[in-house]
Formats: sequence, C-alpha cells, structure tokens
Amino acid sequence: MKKFFFAAFWMAGMMMTPVAAEVLESYGAAQAIATADTIGRQQEKTVVSPDGMTFLKVGLKDGRPYYKAGYYTREKKEVLMVDESPLGLRADIGDFTQGLTWVEDHGGTHDISYDLGRSKTSRVDRKANDFSVRLSNAEKAEIDMEFVVEDHNIAFRYHLPKPKEAGCVRVMAESTGFRFPEKTTTFLAPQSDAMIGWKRTKPSYEEEYKADAPMDTPSQYGHGYTFPGLSHVGDDGWVLVSETGVDSRYCASRLSYAHDRLYTVAFPMPEDNNGNGTSEPAFALPGATPWRTLTLAPTLGPIVETTIPWAVVEPRFATEHKYKTGRGTWSWILWQDGSIHYDDQVRYVDWAASMGYEYTLVDNWWNRNIGHERMADLIRYARSKGVELFLWYSSSGYWNDIDQGPINIMDNPITRKREMKWLQQQGVKGIKVDFFGGDKQETMRLYEAILSDADDYGLMVILHGCTIPRGWERMYPNYVGSEAVLASENLIFNQHFCDNEAFNATLHPFIRNAVGSMEFGGTFLNKRLNRGNDGGTTRVTTDVFELATAVAFQNSVQNFALAPNNLTDQPDFVLDFMKGVPTTLDETRFIDGYPGRYVVLARRHGQDCYVAALNAEKETLQLTVDLPLAAGSRVTYYHDGKDGKTPVQEEAQVDKKGRFKFVLPPNGGSVLKGK
Ligand code: CA
Repeated sequence: MKKFFFAAFWMAGMMMTPVAAEVLESYGAAQAIATADTIGRQQEKTVVSPDGMTFLKVGLKDGRPYYKAGYYTREKKEVLMVDESPLGLRADIGDFTQGLTWVEDHGGTHDISYDLGRSKTSRVDRKANDFSVRLSNAEKAEIDMEFVVEDHNIAFRYHLPKPKEAGCVRVMAESTGFRFPEKTTTFLAPQSDAMIGWKRTKPSYEEEYKADAPMDTPSQYGHGYTFPGLSHVGDDGWVLVSETGVDSRYCASRLSYAHDRLYTVAFPMPEDNNGNGTSEPAFALPGATPWRTLTLAPTLGPIVETTIPWAVVEPRFATEHKYKTGRGTWSWILWQDGSIHYDDQVRYVDWAASMGYEYTLVDNWWNRNIGHERMADLIRYARSKGVELFLWYSSSGYWNDIDQGPINIMDNPITRKREMKWLQQQGVKGIKVDFFGGDKQETMRLYEAILSDADDYGLMVILHGCTIPRGWERMYPNYVGSEAVLASENLIFNQHFCDNEAFNATLHPFIRNAVGSMEFGGTFLNKRLNRGNDGGTTRVTTDVFELATAVAFQNSVQNFALAPNNLTDQPDFVLDFMKGVPTTLDETRFIDGYPGRYVVLARRHGQDCYVAALNAEKETLQLTVDLPLAAGSRVTYYHDGKDGKTPVQEEAQVDKKGRFKFVLPPNGGSVLKGK
C-alpha cells in the first residue's frame, strides 16, 4: 500500500515541541490578559498570546511610551527577549514621543484566516489577541498604538485619528526601537551608501550579513542595517525583526546603528533616489503607519515558519486574472548580455520546454537586440512550445545611470500603460522590473503603481534591484517576488561570493526568505560559471547542494540558473528532480539548523514532500534528524555520494523510530523526497 506518510506527518501538526506542549498545558487555554499596574508614574499592561506563552508589555513611564516582549518558560518564568524599548513618533501635527497620558485602552481576540498561495504556506488559520491604547499629548492631540499578539509573533503600528483641523500628517521621525538583552549577538546586513555601485543603483539590499556579530559593531557604511534583522539572545532564543504593510502611504524603513543595545526605526537616506523625494513619509488622516514585526521564540522553528508579514495586511485590490506560478529558464544568468538575441532566446525557450517549465525570462537589452517587432515572433514561438515569457524593464527614470534597456518606460504612467497594453496584446505573462531608487515613499508609490497597472493588463511582476517585500504576496495578487538579496548573479561576478555561497544559503531560510519571496535565481549545475562551463568563477558547492537550494529557497516563480548543456551533462535523475520541483508550498517546517552553519527544512506541495539539507560548515556534518511520523517509510534520497561530490539517487528508509541520518560534506547537501 502506498503511504502518503509525509502528508500524515504534516497534518498531525508535529511542529509543537514537547517543551511547548507542556507550557501550553500548564497555562491552560490562556486568553488575553491585560492587567493594569500602576507604580508611581508608570502604567503598564500585559498582553499574552492565545497559547499563553508569548507576552507583550506596553507602558508609559514619565510620559514616554514603551514596550517589552518575551516568553514564559515551563516554570512560568518570564524570559525577556526585547528589553524596554521606546514607542512613538514626531509629526507636524504633534510630538507623540513624550509628555503623553494614557486615555483609554481596549483588547480583543480575532481570527487570522486567509489563503496565501504564493509563499511558504498556502493556508493560514491562527488566532491573535489585540491590544490598543490611545495616548494624548500636552496639546490634546491623540495617537493610537495598536498591537497584535500571535503565538511567537507581535506586530504593532501607530494609528492617527483625524483631528478637526488637519487632513494629513507628515512624520519627521519615529522613536520606535528594539532593545535587546546584553548577551545578544546579531545577524544583520548593513544599509549601503546611496547612489553607489553599478550605475549608481544602490541601495538594493545586496550587502553581506555578518553572523553572531556583537551589537556594538559599527555598520559598514554608517547607515545602520536593513530589515529583516535576526537577533540571537544567547541560550534564550531568537528574535526576527522586520516590517510589513508598507505601500504607497509610507516609506520603507531600516534599523539604525545600535546605541545602548537599542536599534531604532530610521527613515530612508536623503541621498536615495538621486536626492529626489522626501525622506519623511506623509499620509491622509485618519491613517496609520506600516506594521513593525517581531518573531520571538526559544527555537528557530517559529522564525522560519512565521507568517506575521501577511497576518496584519489586506489585499490592496482584487484581480480578475488567474496568475500561474511556476519555474523558468533565463539565459542572462550564465550567458549574460551576449545571449539577449533571438537565437539564444529560442534556445532557452526550447530548454524550458524540455524541462516542462512554464516560463522563460528575457533579460535586459531585448529592446535593442531583438526589438518589439521581432519579440512578437519570439512570443508566438514560445507559446507554440507551451512556454510563456517574462520581459525585463528598468524602473528608471531619473534615479540612476542605467542604460541597458528598455529604460524610461516603467517610471511614467503614460508610457507604462501603453507598453503594458502591447505586452498583453502579444500574450506576455509577466515583467521583471529592475533598478529601483531606494526606500522613499516616492519609490513605494512607484512599486504600487507598477503592480496595480500591471494587474490591469494581466501581468505578473518580479522586482529586482529593489527593496524587500513587506506583506506584498497577500497585498498584490500579481506580485511574484523580489531580489533584495545577494543573489545568484554575484556568484558569476566574484569568486568571493562562490566561496561564501553555502554560508549565505544557510542564512536565507532564517532571515531574508523568512519574511517574503526571494528571487534568488539559483541552482547552477555548471561547475564553471560561464557560457562554456569552462571559465569564469568556480562553484564550490556540490550538485546536490544546488538541488537542495531549489527546495530551500522560495519564490513563486523560480528562474533557475540551469543551462541547455545540463540536458546532456547531467544524469536523468537530476533533471527529473528539477522537472518536478515546486515553487509554492502548502507547508514549510523547520527541522534543524543554525543560521550560517547548516539548515534542514521540510516543505510540502500537495502530496509531494521534501526535506532539504544544506551544510556550510568546514567539516562533514553527520546529522540525525527526527521525522517521527515518517517512521519506517521509504523515501528517495539524493546525496553527494561516497566521494562527497558525485550526485546519487537511491531509495532509503526512515528508521522505525523516525530518525534519518544525513551525511553532509562541506558545501554539500541532501534532499529526501517522499509522497
Ligand atoms: Ca541585483
């Protein structure tokens, strides 16, 4: 009898660890507890998550608002993960950082239920406890601080009611902060200078993360750090900080450099976007800021599995189109600019067709080397092969020196809509828009305008050279994913990034890819990263490592870095694996790992279940993992072979106690596949 063992494994909800189960029991089904506490001039209330384990304290001390957060141990001991941290903002309609009084508060419970469809999980059904406090400043201007507390997750934002006289607000600064306990080390990527790098296109979230860095490490460029940031609070656990719900009505933010263990929310640099546009966001009243999010837990599971980026946002518009996720080929990654002509694009369309892939991405310069007229022929050819196209555009515009085309189309609503109409008429299914100008509200307006217009013409949107997504998988029905990572192209550009490929790969599931789709564009099977597989940089990871990244990295359309030569130089089982790999998941589970060292993840798509393991350690890792409900089941096991580099596919068995032992060479990987 064929056992759908993994499906059973997932459905049984094995994610609750024995420790968590006990704590839950000892607390019973604790609901929101908001207890008032007045000590001198301090007022503080506690909100607890639905399972009773995560707590948030919100208070006012000498007129200044603050919060703290943490979890309870099984002995009901409080473990503080975010120490007393400031709240509030300073706006043209008033200062809401000090001199505040507590007007009123209320709490409640709500269900968070929605379909996600284009991410690491397809369906979310959770509960959250809400808490909102209204504060008033000396001038009697009011602000609401709104909190949502899920098990392991906290989101909060500021809502400003409409005063009689004002219709809008401009926010000058936030004092919102994140103060971590003394023992904390961090996994943070620096914000780069503005207007540096290739054709002055930065910042674009492509800097390198440092693992377990002390909090007082100066940021490389002196501009703090980008979201998301992971904090390791010693033996007490982990905190992932990010933000969500950013759209045309605010800027995207970042973290300042830490002073006294405190990182604060910082607005975009004035130099972003070639100095155009304000760094100070503004919105109509009543209105609200985006949500800042915290995921905190003693273990890394809730970090990898978090759905908080989507819990507190709503779709910005409905669509009449049916968008199809899938896999794609793209010539640019290995064959570079020289391949953007008709004949090579036909080769990559044929390559996609032979893999059964849904898409081919035609990258920059197609307008010059193929042209709109001939592109119509290429689109027809591709569609005759069952392959749909994505076409590349620059977002610019006036915010960088990019000259590879098409340029000066997507920045303007008149040219943009004219082009999108043409794309729809030709049957193009999506666009990749590259080289955005930073994080100012002006640029957030452009992202939303492109997404909204593209949906009018039935086009999906991949973003490159861009900011991280902030809840966009749920907010925009045609959003595919964003680069905003040190992506596969860097492996071509510089051997340093090849040498660090495994290190970076084992960070993403815990940090960048935990908060949103990641357009990495990876899975190279060429050993040498050039067109002829005979020059350029040298990949140091094993082939099975690369296969495992196809599972470990998530983007709803994955354009893989496979090349046509792989059709003849790879074993059939490797190609078959890549033909079957899914890009959207019904479930994602953390099994084991440590950011920057190794990671083992499980993902399910329908009845297909995968366990992917990646090793970035210098030594061979012998790792026994628990897959309790798979006990005794047969699986297909992909590994690096006896020599630690030759891919092997074999049938294997999870032992009777549900244990499976991986042997992962340095820069190596494994995948288990089961049904
Ligand atoms: Ca890039």
